[in-house]
Amino acid sequence: MALAIRELGDRRYVGDAAKKIVHDRWHPDCEDCLMDDIVASGDAVGFEPDELDQAFYEGYEYCEDCFDRGTPERPALPGQPA
Ligand SMILES: [Zn+2]
Repeated sequence: MALAIRELGDRRYVGDAAKKIVHDRWHPDCEDCLMDDIVASGDAVGFEPDELDQAFYEGYEYCEDCFDRGTPERPALPGQPA
């Protein structure tokens, strides 16, 4: 289910409830997506679970800036081999 969020925290997928678009914060191009503005305007939603399928299930479309340009690399996690 979608939840209104006031902080992005470590969520990967953040939806813009006004436009029904979901952003992938792991994607390098997503800095241009004005996440702070979405949060400031109160339109930011997170997904539970924090998965793309959940966003699609709730009727969100992916953002063309942060999807469709290849698969983003998962940020390295401590303790995992490169
Ligand atoms: Zn985006």
